[in-house]
Amino acid sequence: MSTETIVDTIAAQPASSAAASNTITAAEEARRSFATRALRAGYDPAEHANASSVPIYATAAYQLRDEEHATQIASFELADNIYTRISNPTTNVLEQRLAALHGVEGAVATASGLAAVTYSLLNAALGGGRILTTYRLYGGTVATFSDVLPDYGIGVDIVPNPDDPESWNAAILPDTKALLVESVSNPLSIVADIEALAAVAHKHGIILIVDNTLATPYLVNPFEYGADVVVYSTTKAINGHGNAIGGVVLESGAFDYANGNYPQFERKEWFFKSRERVERSVLEIAPTTPFTSRLRGILVTLLGAAPSPFDSYLTLIGLETLKARLAQETASTERVVGFLEEQREAGRITAIYHPAAHDYPYRELADKYLTRGYDTVIAFDVDTEERKRRVLDALRLFSLQANLGDSKSLAIDPFVVTHPELTLDELRIAGITPSTIRLSIGLEETDDLIADLRQALDSAYAA
Ligand SMILES: *Cc1c(COP(=O)(O)O)cnc(C)c1O
Repeated sequence: MSTETIVDTIAAQPASSAAASNTITAAEEARRSFATRALRAGYDPAEHANASSVPIYATAAYQLRDEEHATQIASFELADNIYTRISNPTTNVLEQRLAALHGVEGAVATASGLAAVTYSLLNAALGGGRILTTYRLYGGTVATFSDVLPDYGIGVDIVPNPDDPESWNAAILPDTKALLVESVSNPLSIVADIEALAAVAHKHGIILIVDNTLATPYLVNPFEYGADVVVYSTTKAINGHGNAIGGVVLESGAFDYANGNYPQFERKEWFFKSRERVERSVLEIAPTTPFTSRLRGILVTLLGAAPSPFDSYLTLIGLETLKARLAQETASTERVVGFLEEQREAGRITAIYHPAAHDYPYRELADKYLTRGYDTVIAFDVDTEERKRRVLDALRLFSLQANLGDSKSLAIDPFVVTHPELTLDELRIAGITPSTIRLSIGLEETDDLIADLRQALDSAYAA
């Protein structure tokens, strides 16, 4: 059978039989639970040669049907693909699946989590705006505050007391454009009061950006508490297998970007012109998703940190099992914290930073926001920097890796490896000491993980 005949045969079938019966409506999808959406949302095999696994569209460009097709896409009348730096069908499935998991519409994937963070900040605060935040952040994010953003005209202010919403409120300046927090901070698992911070931001007509990487969309959906923009490093638990770098930016669709604080969403831009070559604002072409549409159009497309479709594929495969992984990992993490508590009793550990630790100061917030289990990152302190080195060197199952959320359990030194960008002062404010160890709990048998920690501590305290 020639290709042409096959195509004719497919075309001859009644349109309803193949497509309509299996196509899921948005309302139907919204009723499905998290685990189901993580496996199914945003993908209809009928639209991809019936492939069960999302195909990797390894293509730089797309064959345009004719000039009219090209014009429709170029003037934003039709959402279709021209070039993979702008959009790619594999990546689109990832974006739509993550959007569905959050119950929102707007999502754009980036080549890394840091690109998701920085593009969000550039999108919110261009032209001399300011970001209000804390040092309870991933080290790379803090580094952009000292080494990158101010050079491009974006100011960064650190809130004096991040635990107090009133302190945030008082630190907002006339040109502050966004509050930025990690819902669960890296590495000390400090839970932010998203609802209170959203209320503060909205009182000033500005947005709250939440980095939800450690919590994952399974443990908390920040949009349910008023977040306007949520970013992830998908490199971590969303992928969960440590085999690709990636990020994503999502938006609630509820914020009014025409409130006078964000001229970049209202001003006419040549990039968004109509087929008549009339300049338009991003709000005109994408009224329900202005933040991510501008981020895709101006920042991903023109600054260029677009994800590879192969990486999007790997991320999609990992995302399928997010709930199953988290269910085991959160339970395992609590048992590991229990073991560390015993070691603290025995005088070998001086502090434990995790919501399951008995003296964790943010328990109320953790119980409010992390209703499906606490996060899988544990930090703890031993008595000296030298002891920390000995514990890390003695571990035989935990791998020393600058990653987290992996299916394999990892250990790392935040002072030396993940947060070296912070000055000693910033580290002190962030709560990281020279003898802090960060663990990320994976899927190995919990008994094996505890046995490894036990022998490492035994060996570090011997002699
Ligand atoms: C790792 C991480 C990032 C950066 O993501 P990359 O994918 O490594 O670029 C940002 N935020 C948090 C909380 C992280 O853990």
